Formats: sequence, C-alpha cells, structure tokens
Amino acid sequence: MSTGGVRPRPLRPIGKLLAEDTRRHHRSLILQHLFSEGPASRADLSRATGLTRVTVSDLVGGLIADGLLGELGSPAENKVGKPPTLVGLLPDAAHIVALDLSPEDRMTGAVVDLFGHVKARTEVPLEGACGEEAVRLAADLAERVRGTIDGPVLGVGVGTPGVVDGHGVVLDARNLRWAGVDLTGALRRRLNLPVYVANDANTAVLAEYTFGGTTAADLMLLRVGTGVGAGLVVGGALVQGHGWAAGEIGHVVIDPAGARCACGKAGCLETVLNVPYLRDSGCALASVGTDVGRVLAPVVAALNLHEVVLAGPPDLLDGELRIALDATIRERVMATSSADLLVRMSPLGDDVVLVGAAVLVLSGELGVL
Ligand SMILES: [Zn+2]
Repeated sequence: MSTGGVRPRPLRPIGKLLAEDTRRHHRSLILQHLFSEGPASRADLSRATGLTRVTVSDLVGGLIADGLLGELGSPAENKVGKPPTLVGLLPDAAHIVALDLSPEDRMTGAVVDLFGHVKARTEVPLEGACGEEAVRLAADLAERVRGTIDGPVLGVGVGTPGVVDGHGVVLDARNLRWAGVDLTGALRRRLNLPVYVANDANTAVLAEYTFGGTTAADLMLLRVGTGVGAGLVVGGALVQGHGWAAGEIGHVVIDPAGARCACGKAGCLETVLNVPYLRDSGCALASVGTDVGRVLAPVVAALNLHEVVLAGPPDLLDGELRIALDATIRERVMATSSADLLVRMSPLGDDVVLVGAAVLVLSGELGVL
C-alpha cells in the first residue's frame, strides 16, 4: 500500500504500566471520588471505583497513614447491623503554597487548603524587579509563605504572566523580562518541594473548572486586568496549544487603525479590553463588549463552548459589557452553538489565580482535578 511518500505518523507509545503506576492511579481514583462527592464508606468507594474491597481498604489505610484521609464516624441514620464508617479528605491534612505573579506591581502568595480555600495571604511589592531579581523575589515569597504553615506542604503552585511550556519554563513574560526562565527549577531548588508553574489565565480556568461550582466541561475564562488573557478547558482538559500559547487572544487585531499596542501591532483587543482603559477612557462598556463578542464568537462556535466566564472587576465587566458580549456572540453563531451558552462572572474574585495555582498542585500530586 502506497502512502504517496507521506510517512504515517508514529503511533503513540503505550508504556508498560508498572505496579507503582497502577497503585498511584488507583489512589487517584479514590481521592477523586472523595474530592468531588464528599465522604464515603469503603464499600461505596469500591462500588464507585470498580476496585475490590481489599484493594480499597489497603489504599485507604495508606492514605490515612499519610494523613490525607480521616475516619469520620458513621452516617446518622440507624440501619440494622453495624453502620459503615465513612472516610473523607481532611482539608487541613496538608496545605499548598500558591503564588500569583500576574499583577503588574506586586507578587501575591497564599496558603491554600486542599479544598481550595485561601487561608492567609502575603504580598510583596515588585518595585520594578525583573529578570533574576524577580525570580529571587518569587522564591523569597514562596519561602515566607511556607514558613507560616504548620504541618505537611503538598507543593508550590504558581500562576505567572506570559507563555509557559509543559515543564514550567517561562518562555516569554514581557513585564518581568523573563525569556526561557526555568522558574520551576529555581523554586524547586530553593524550597525542595514539588513545584508547578503555569500561565495565569490557564491557572484561573482550572480554578473555575474545579472550584467555580460549574458542571461545564467546555469553558473559556477571560481574565481582564492590565491586559487580557484567556484560558480554555475543552472536554475537561486544559488546552495548551502547539507552542503553549493557547488563549493568547489579547493580541488579536480588532482595528488596524486603532491604538498602538505593547506587542508592536496596532488595535489589538487588549488596547480596549484592559482595566485602566475601561475605567479611565470614558469608553462605552457596551461597545467594548461587542468588540470582545466579535473575537469570541468564532471560538465559541468552533469549540461549542458551554460557558464563557469573565474574571476581573465586576463594576466594569458585570453589566453592559457582559450583556453586549453575550448578545454579540448569539447574533454571530448558529442557534445550536449558543443554545446552552452561559456568559457569566467568575465567583472566585481576586483569588482566582491563587486557587488555580493550588489546583495545579492538587492535580499533579494527588491526581485530583
Ligand atoms: Zn498587541
């Protein structure tokens, strides 16, 4: 059979599943169930995961010994016979160090529990720090936050501006003058903990997906601050893109005759969709909403998104802008594409990146997402 000179792409290698991988996978199944459904008996866990009762008991024993799960007593209703003991994830069993490096003028660190609650917050002013100095500042902040935690620390999660590859290397973050900076490696060496670094909009959409109270598996989060970035979850998985730059819609040109943008082009979406412009220029918020809708409509149609979530100041976004955005998308896509579409605000407020940074760690260390 000829393939016309085109070589078929190689099949994905299927690695041999090692006993340790299997155990880790089974452990994740149990944690995932308890994470999303709440406390359960060992028999419930066996039914829900398809694992045998012996396997479940063994894994639950290990997780209790690790301090991640606790015995929570029996359910209230009294049935005949010995009621089953419930086990559940202990939110304070371990904590996560979360960093949000996205504000222009500061870095924010926080202690986050296993259920995504921000327990304490620390800030340091950036004062123009960039390059190596900014890496040191982030590491100092992470260390300071870690120092406030009594008990086990699951890891460090970081939401940073810029394009970040799959190894947590910041390929390009203009404001911090980072190009090819191995932030993950630097933090790991300094703190000797598991470290996960991702783009701020990507961490924000993970926060929304995991802790935003949504059932949507296909959503886009648009984060509006001094600039704009988007994070996409499709089919329940984060979309990162061929060059790790998925969601960079801020520099799509909407008006070639528009204002000059920091990226060098003119009339990028970001020149009208940013907080200082929305607040100070006297622009019509509805007209910006229409501009955003024009950019998002093809994305909504192509991916058949269920939700478009806005994160940023509610006084600017959650009114005329959101209504015009919603209406413009609906005008421009097939009725089927927008039938179940919801355009809404994120309930996570300013914490969205910190919570998302914690999700990176939960996902990487416990397999919970
Ligand atoms: Zn631009």
